[in-house]
Amino acid sequence: MGATGCGKTRVSIDLATRFQSEIINSDKMQVYEGLDITTNKITIQDRLGVPHHLLGEFDPDDGELTPSEYRLAGGLAISGIVSRQNLPIVVGGSNSLIHALVVDRFNPELNVFDGCNPVSTQLRYNCCFLWVDVSLPVLCDYLCKRVDEMLDSGMLDELSEYYGSVDAASQIGLRKAIGVPEFDRYFKKYPPGSGCGRGMEWDRVRRGVYEVCVREIKENTCQLAKRQIGKILRLKGAGWDLKRVDATESFREVMTVTSDDHIKKRKKKRWMEVWGRDVMEPSMKIVKRFLEE
Ligand code: ATP
Repeated sequence: MGATGCGKTRVSIDLATRFQSEIINSDKMQVYEGLDITTNKITIQDRLGVPHHLLGEFDPDDGELTPSEYRLAGGLAISGIVSRQNLPIVVGGSNSLIHALVVDRFNPELNVFDGCNPVSTQLRYNCCFLWVDVSLPVLCDYLCKRVDEMLDSGMLDELSEYYGSVDAASQIGLRKAIGVPEFDRYFKKYPPGSGCGRGMEWDRVRRGVYEVCVREIKENTCQLAKRQIGKILRLKGAGWDLKRVDATESFREVMTVTSDDHIKKRKKKRWMEVWGRDVMEPSMKIVKRFLEE
């Protein structure tokens, strides 16, 4: 568990390669097929051969996947994984989906995150909850940088293609992915096909509109992280036994920028040491202890 960008995916792959595992996605946007860059799906290459479930499996044209449907699909995935004698690792930032999947009795009518309804501590699985935490200001700095990297790796082209497709308007689930509503004003003014690709000469107005959209994406991503941390704290406050690992220092290492290759190399080494010490080693220990119990 953890807010967007905190390193959950990396932890899940490291754990899965150490313990014989399969991964189940619990990010409510990544369940759909499409917008791989915008929703930040792990690439096939980065999966290192670990099987992934409920990742890009649902057709966004079939409507929004409800928590009840996710509970059913996730439950089936868990049974399959267990029958293959593998360890199911659920990873993703949608705490409402994780809640729906693991509680013993799920009531789709109740929103347990609004503060009015109690969170159940009766679970249908024996769970080991690992929470990768990063201090919010440090995480927000990183998220802004990540948005720039996503744009560099083709997010605008992906959104342009999506916006120009016939089905986009009816895809009520995927349409909410951060990036789609934010770029709406841009594509209304500069419809796909009108030469909006990267590398085109843009006038000042166009650049201005684009920059407003990017700023909104950054703000909304930080807001999402804040809400996700709030939900995690709610589950913890209700008695869920979340084991917290603090990745803040390793993120500070990543954030210090330098153009000197020699320093870059040293920093990467230092980052790997801190990540190993603060995140991976404690995570491995927590899971090992859980499996031995
Ligand atoms: P909620 O109570 O809002 O349903 P949740 O915990 O189920 O919360 P979140 O993961 O917090 O769901 O997602 C809420 C919103 O954040 C999504 O509707 C979407 O707008 C955005 N979002 C979440 N994950 C992604 C993602 N991977 N890519 C883009 N946008 C995302």
